[in-house]
Amino acid sequence: MKPELSPYAYDLDEAQIRAERAKARKLRQSQWWKRRCAKGRCYYCGRSTPARELTMDHIVPIARGGKSTRANVVPACKECNSNKKQLLPMEWESYLEKISQADPDHN
Ligand SMILES: [Zn+2]
Repeated sequence: MKPELSPYAYDLDEAQIRAERAKARKLRQSQWWKRRCAKGRCYYCGRSTPARELTMDHIVPIARGGKSTRANVVPACKECNSNKKQLLPMEWESYLEKISQADPDHN
């Protein structure tokens, strides 16, 4: 006998979110991630940041359907990470624009 499916659709989303968070934890322990952080640079503002202060940021947040894949996670400094959480996507865009204007060498 198959176990009965939950009648609550949001349980599925919760399960997906939990699965992606678990994947992110694993990814964070991988050599690939450690190498990325060893470069000591924030993906967003380009400031050099000690590896241990870099946090894993999902470009598309998990809550919005983003996945914990190499293509969707980047090292971010604490400032960028918390700004990204607080700002609306539009505000975040202009934040990034401001950063790149302030530092023309930023790539
Ligand atoms: Zn940053």
